[in-house]
Amino acid sequence: MGGGRRRFLRLTGSAAALALGSAGLSGLWHRGSLPDVSAAGIVPGATTPHDLFAATGADDQVLMREASAGAGPVAVDPPGSIRIRRPQMGAGPRRVGLQAGHWLTQQAPPELGRIITQTGTSWGGITELSINLDMAERVGGILTAHGIEVDILPTTIPQGYLADAFVSLHGDGDGRGVKSGFKAAHSTRRTPFEPRFMELLVNEYGHTTGLDYDQDGVTRNMLNYYAHAWSRVRYATSPFTPSVILEMGFVSHDWDRHLMVDRADLLSEGIARGILQFLDDVPRSKLFSSDLVLPAAPPRLPFPTPR
Ligand SMILES: [Zn+2]
Repeated sequence: MGGGRRRFLRLTGSAAALALGSAGLSGLWHRGSLPDVSAAGIVPGATTPHDLFAATGADDQVLMREASAGAGPVAVDPPGSIRIRRPQMGAGPRRVGLQAGHWLTQQAPPELGRIITQTGTSWGGITELSINLDMAERVGGILTAHGIEVDILPTTIPQGYLADAFVSLHGDGDGRGVKSGFKAAHSTRRTPFEPRFMELLVNEYGHTTGLDYDQDGVTRNMLNYYAHAWSRVRYATSPFTPSVILEMGFVSHDWDRHLMVDRADLLSEGIARGILQFLDDVPRSKLFSSDLVLPAAPPRLPFPTPR
């Protein structure tokens, strides 16, 4: 227990030290003990679906055709798909990334665009950021005590971040103090294990908090969360990393806020239990057992001008 706690503190401390340093972003994340993103099979710097296709899918198809010529059925990926090589993950401890929403947003690179202006909600003198950071540290402490390696991550996550699970912690606000409840989302064109991860997390969190699930409140921003959008944002998780954004409740609602501030011990237990159940359910050998064959990104349509 004690050793786990120390390791967690070291991780937290190194994240803070890195954040305070003056190093450029490219060097920032390589100084920590973060996973090798090139192991995920994504070509560094590839930011568009076109780049990824050229770098992986097209060559793969030619190679697979040649390799399988005259040797039974020809395995060729469907047209319009891309293949991402499975990462070579060792047998070490499981690894979990916990993103404290809006933490160090002012240090985000220009690529993240309008994210930089989003500093989170607040109500009654309580900021969403303080809740997110507190919860990330609490959940991290519980997971570390279970022998799991934990990264507490800011707005700018390592490029192609690779882990056994990743959760972004956020709180909501309605500006009126009326809405209550929590919600979660994962994105598409990623590992097939995300729906299961979200289900376990939502079940445990809902059961622990007694909060209603706010299905109608799930927004497009949640479904297209930047840190999951690996094909258009470099500072996103690897598509192999099961990634979920959790809006823990409304900071603007008295009861929700009371739970998040005064019962953070309880809430963090719920989040940690959901993560632990998922790790038990899906061993690393299963999580990274095969390449991902995903649909290529749809062509981008011109953004309609709002009236
Ligand atoms: Zn937020």
